[in-house]
Amino acid sequence: MQESADVVVVGAGVTGCGVARQLATDRDVLVVDRSGVAAEATGRAAGLVAPTLFYKDAPDVARHANAFFREFDGTRHFEFTERDRYDLVTEDGVSDASADAERLADLGFPVEFLDAEEIERRVPRFVVDNYAAGVHYGDTGWVDPYSYTVALKRDAEARGATFAVGVEVTGVEPGRVETTDGIVECADVVVAAGWRTRDLVDADLPLAAYRTQCVVLEPEEPLGDDFPLGRLGDRGLYFRPEHNGDLLIGGSHQRMADPTGASTQADESFEREIALTVPEILRGFDHAGLVNGWAGVDSATPDARPVVDRVDGVVVAAGFNGLGIMISPAAHAAVTELVAEEEEAPFDRSVFALDRFEGGGDFELTTTSDL
Ligand SMILES: Cc1cc2nc3c(=O)[nH]c(=O)nc-3n(C[C@H](O)[C@H](O)[C@H](O)COP(=O)(O)OP(=O)(O)OC[C@H]3O[C@@H](n4cnc5c(N)ncnc54)[C@H](O)[C@@H]3O)c2cc1C
Repeated sequence: MQESADVVVVGAGVTGCGVARQLATDRDVLVVDRSGVAAEATGRAAGLVAPTLFYKDAPDVARHANAFFREFDGTRHFEFTERDRYDLVTEDGVSDASADAERLADLGFPVEFLDAEEIERRVPRFVVDNYAAGVHYGDTGWVDPYSYTVALKRDAEARGATFAVGVEVTGVEPGRVETTDGIVECADVVVAAGWRTRDLVDADLPLAAYRTQCVVLEPEEPLGDDFPLGRLGDRGLYFRPEHNGDLLIGGSHQRMADPTGASTQADESFEREIALTVPEILRGFDHAGLVNGWAGVDSATPDARPVVDRVDGVVVAAGFNGLGIMISPAAHAAVTELVAEEEEAPFDRSVFALDRFEGGGDFELTTTSDL
C-alpha cells in the first residue's frame, strides 16, 4: 500500500466514497476499508431519500441533498427513483404535522398537509382507518444504496483516488494513519468508519451504535409504478416500493453496547410484527410472501444528526442515525469544507458541529420516527 497521501479516508461506505470523490478533484486521496465497499450499514440501507422531511429546520441542507441526487442520476449506472411520500399521523400528531407542512410550503418545498380520506383517495392501496391525516412530500424518492456508493467510488477513482480494501486502520492521529498494511503519512485524515469511529478517535464522542431491520414482502398484486414511500410514525415503520412491485418495509431500533457479531438477519419477531401490521395498513397483503429480511448497525447521536467536524486534529463524519444515504451529499460537502479550510458548502455546516453536544456516548436514542 502507498506510504503517503494528501488525505486518508477511513471507511468505504457511502460517506467515505463520496468524500473521496469530492476531495479527489485536487488531492491525492487514499480510502482504506477493513471489509469492503458498502460492506456495512451502507449496503444494508433501505435507500429512502427524504431530506426535506428530516432537515426541515435546515432547508439549505435539504435543498443541497435533493439537488445532488437529481444531478448525479444517470452517472455510472446510478438511478434516483423519484416517488412521492406520505407520512401518516394519528390525531395526536395532527397539529405538528400541519404546522410543519405549512412552514415547508412557505419555504418553497412541494409539501402539503392532507386529511386521511384525501390520502386514501390518492393512494387507494392505503387503509387509513387508524390515521387522522398525513403530510405529502413531492420531492422524495429512493436509491439502491449499493449502486449509489459504487458510482461514487468509480467517480472517485476516475479522479485519481485509490482504494485499499481488506486493510484495517488500527490508529489515527493528525498526519499519520496506522494500518494492518503499514503506516501512511498524510496531510489530513477523515474518519468515516460508522459506529467504529468512536474506537478510532481519541475523544469522548456522542456516538451510540444501534441495530435496525428491513423486510421485503411480495404482495398479491405488484405495487404500481406510482406507489409512494411512506411512514407510520406511531409504529416506527417506513416503507417504499421495489422496482418489481414488492414492498420494502423497515424499522426497529435496538441500541447495542457492542455490535460486534450482531446478527445481520431480520429477527423472527420483527418479521411477525410486519406480517401482522402490513395488511392493516395496505390492501393486497393478506397473503403476501416474505421475500427476505436483514439487519444492519448504524451509529447515532443524541439529536439524530451526524457529527461532521474536526476533532483533535482529524475530521470525523459519523452518527448518521439511519439517514446517512439521504444526507450524504451534505456530509460530503461539509467534509470537503473542513479539509479545504474554505467556505465551500452551500449551507451552514454548524448543524453538524460537535459543540452542539455537551457529553459523550451516554444518551437516550432519538429515532428517526421522532423527527
Ligand atoms: C437496515 C438499515 C436501513 C437504513 N435505511 C436507510 C434509508 O432508507 N435512508 C438513509 O438515508 N439511510 C438509511 N440507513 C442508514 C445508512 O445506511 C447509514 O447512515 C449510512 O450507510 C452510513 O454510512 P457510513 O459510510 O457513514 O458508514 P458505514 O456504511 O457503516 O461504513 C463505514 C465503513 O468503515 C469501515 N471501517 C470501520 N472501521 C474501520 C477500520 N478500523 N479500518 C478500516 N475500515 C473501517 C467499515 O468496514 C465500513 O465499510 C439505513 C441503515 C440500516 C442499517
